[in-house]
Amino acid sequence: MTTASVDVDTARRDYAALVDRGLSLDITRGKPSPAQLDLANGLLTLPGDGTFKAEDGTDVRNYGGLKGLPELRRIFAGALQVPAGQLLAAGNSSLELMHDAVVQALLSKLPGAERRWADEPTLKFLAPVPGYDRHFALTERFGIELVPVPMTDQGPDMAVVERLVAEDSAVKGIWCVPKYSNPTGVTFSDDVVKRFATMTTAAPDFRIFWDNAYAVHHLTDAEPALADLLALATEAGNADRVFVFGSTSKITHAGAGVGFFGASEANLAWWVGNIGKRTIGPDKVNQLRHALFLEDEAGVRAHMRKHAEIIGPKFEAVDRILTEELGDSGLATWTKPTGGYFVSLTVPEGTAKEVVRLAKEAGVALTPAGATHPHGDDPADAVIRIAPTFPVLADVEEAVRALAVCVRLAAAERA
Ligand code: PMP
Repeated sequence: MTTASVDVDTARRDYAALVDRGLSLDITRGKPSPAQLDLANGLLTLPGDGTFKAEDGTDVRNYGGLKGLPELRRIFAGALQVPAGQLLAAGNSSLELMHDAVVQALLSKLPGAERRWADEPTLKFLAPVPGYDRHFALTERFGIELVPVPMTDQGPDMAVVERLVAEDSAVKGIWCVPKYSNPTGVTFSDDVVKRFATMTTAAPDFRIFWDNAYAVHHLTDAEPALADLLALATEAGNADRVFVFGSTSKITHAGAGVGFFGASEANLAWWVGNIGKRTIGPDKVNQLRHALFLEDEAGVRAHMRKHAEIIGPKFEAVDRILTEELGDSGLATWTKPTGGYFVSLTVPEGTAKEVVRLAKEAGVALTPAGATHPHGDDPADAVIRIAPTFPVLADVEEAVRALAVCVRLAAAERA
């Protein structure tokens, strides 16, 4: 990016005026707003007094049912692109399922593996960047080395991925958010998905962590199609390389939703065998309540349209204000996602941390610069993640205008 010259005195004056306003705003985390949570308040009175039987007669109040309720698995099979029989409904979080998957692979030999991951001398995961900080933190915690791979507007740079997985058997996995990626909003192209399904891996126990967290989270009617990784990999004889994750966290209630895990039959047998040591079964009352509330795939779609009505204007505001404030400046580029929860803002190299610091001093909390990269270190110090869903629209507008003031000052001071 070219750094256009910014008048430093003007930038300082604008910033001083901003600080004087004593703002207190937060656009750090991708949380649903209270208005979005309200959309699913019907859940709070479901399944209702006297309703505790699943469609197959299971008493949801009792133990058991490790795979989750079939009626709920059916509702999400299409969106998550996993046959209902291979999709498990679990607890309230998909992140914990990803954590479980890594821990179980460390402790129990995966299908196709020569040994447990814990017995490998070195473990590596590929980390498309910019990416999701909690993915990176999870693998970092277990000493798994993260190898950055650049994201393109089609998904991860597959030439780099193919080379790394083919030449190094220590590379055991890759983090992917294939639809409306966190934080770039990119949906992986058909070619990228196909290459994931068919590529040659040196590790026989390589796994793609396909975190389809934003599968149904459209902001517009232009809904990009995502190719079906599990089907393509199965067709190519690589069914076991795919772990699919998803959840209703940003569909119903973020803290009280349902997480899903989908995979090949061999992987499921491995999963259920291990998970059965950890739980006698998931919260089926919550699963029944979700099935009754959402009803079917069309019900999910209709519900997501209501979300889009609330958060769509916030995303539009981010784009409009960035365009007004920075559009001609040459100081920033940003993504214009048509779904998901984030906008990724790129500022001049070496200024992202300073922008975040200036914003903090002016009362605007941003996700720490670098959070989108392994170990919190963005070598170019240029990417800032904007999460506009939680604050009310007026606060989003104010925060983004303030952010632009900080971008201009950081660039001016550096010039
Ligand atoms: N994956 C991605 C890509 C996310 O952005 C988030 C939430 N920010 C999660 C997973 C967390 O999902 P859950 O609530 O199901 O644990």
